[in-house]
Amino acid sequence: MRFRWWLLLMLLMIGAAGVSVWRGWISLPPQWNPWAPLDVKAAPNFLTRYKLMRLRDDPQLCDQALSSSGLRAAHQADSPGATCPLINTLRVQGGDVGLSSSFLASCRLAVSFALFEHHALQPAAQAVYGQPVSRVDHLGSFACRNVYGRENGRRSQHASADALDIAGFRLADGRSISVLRDWPKDNQDAQFLRQVRDGACGVFSVVLSPDYNAAHRNHFHVDVGPWWVCR
Ligand SMILES: [Zn+2]
Repeated sequence: MRFRWWLLLMLLMIGAAGVSVWRGWISLPPQWNPWAPLDVKAAPNFLTRYKLMRLRDDPQLCDQALSSSGLRAAHQADSPGATCPLINTLRVQGGDVGLSSSFLASCRLAVSFALFEHHALQPAAQAVYGQPVSRVDHLGSFACRNVYGRENGRRSQHASADALDIAGFRLADGRSISVLRDWPKDNQDAQFLRQVRDGACGVFSVVLSPDYNAAHRNHFHVDVGPWWVCR
């Protein structure tokens, strides 16, 4: 019985601490405050996924996170009546890293892409090649279709601009690395691609590489949907 009183006291104290942080009575550094906007340049921690989750329904919070990222993105008009409606969607035009072309993204995908670039892609390029990636080559993001284009089945994360297919990278010195060509090799490029895939798993909820199946032999599928796969 005594134990329960201690437990109650502890829960009350945790609750009081939570309320104090939330109300701003106690100030925590923003990266440790679950209610502070996500700072893309700050090193990710266990709160990052929670902060990403909050972006889905809060466009203002998402804009704050994006403005910390250096990524250029233009708001798109909402299309609530479309077969695949898009709400709070952006056209991502690139930032420190260029893109083979701009792509449509839910705000959460855009912010996740920026996190991926800063904390997974560029560190892997520096570690393996000693130089940054200058361009990400992709196969597209938004496509109003079901998974694998099947007539029956669930909607793809691409149908809500929550997914991006990445085909390869160009380094600052002009060298290009392709998932299709370089993944099966046993060299520096293959090692880089695996580091990028593993790093992406720390940011996106689903990451599918050529290890997953033949349909992904030429790209990394990354998305911010409700499932968790890293392969
Ligand atoms: Zn995909």
